[in-house]
Amino acid sequence: MALGWITLRSGDRISLVRSLPFFVVHLACLAAFFLKFHWSYLIVCLAVYYVRMFFVTAGYHRYFSHRSFKTSRAFQFVMALVATMSTQKGVLWWAANHRHHHRYSDTDDDLHSPTLRGFLWSHVGWILSDRYTETRVELIGDFQKYPELRWLNKYHVVPPVVLGVCMFLAGGWGLLVWGYCISTVILWHSSFTINSLSHIFGRRRYPTTDTSKNNALLALITMGEGWHNNHHHYMASARQGFFWWEIDVTYYVLKMLSWCGVVWDLRQPPRHILLGAQVAQPLATD
Ligand SMILES: [Zn+2]
Ligand SMILES: [Zn+2]
Repeated sequence: MALGWITLRSGDRISLVRSLPFFVVHLACLAAFFLKFHWSYLIVCLAVYYVRMFFVTAGYHRYFSHRSFKTSRAFQFVMALVATMSTQKGVLWWAANHRHHHRYSDTDDDLHSPTLRGFLWSHVGWILSDRYTETRVELIGDFQKYPELRWLNKYHVVPPVVLGVCMFLAGGWGLLVWGYCISTVILWHSSFTINSLSHIFGRRRYPTTDTSKNNALLALITMGEGWHNNHHHYMASARQGFFWWEIDVTYYVLKMLSWCGVVWDLRQPPRHILLGAQVAQPLATD
């Protein structure tokens, strides 16, 4: 191991210095055992988790990566700003890499295929490695043209730091640990399951060319992103739960925002897509 680097069997390298904040935030969660607990900490932790998860799924994913609905330039910025507080790098970096994932899902060129490169790589390895640090500007030209988004993308560490400082000022170490560190660690690993577990566990309704699965548990944790096979089948849709029983909280919130005129033109999967060729499910044997 070269000093300051972890070298993986594939030859990929992870910089310990660059990854330090990721590990420090994990370690800081342990401080909760030494701090006095208040229920308000837990409530803030969950609220900050769900608000940021909404903006990651609605913003980073359904809007910036897939343009599945329309909104104003002001709300576009709000979505990018709050999603950047999720500490998952910049908006243009995230969306460009995600477009790349759809283009090359589960092929040798896929950034994070668990079937080809294993769970750990698809979950965190690809993000921490030095292989994909640059923003693929050629894949995100439609949003690259906005200077405010370019600024946010470049200084993506600023919003998470501001969030952490606000937590500290509002409630000291206790709120910093619960409201930022614990909330962010849960948010990271929940979001990352869509790159890892939702290509491993679940059911396939549509015979897509990748290994994407529909998984109800992941859909609940990630506000609807667990319907990943639906999503790979028709990624332009603002809703990922295609049928009424497929809970998709992000879509419900987007629908409410559309009633207020904050977002509009929510794209729907056409009927022939919903009812198109489906994977035959094995019959129950008992
Ligand atoms: Zn996928
Ligand atoms: Zn997608």
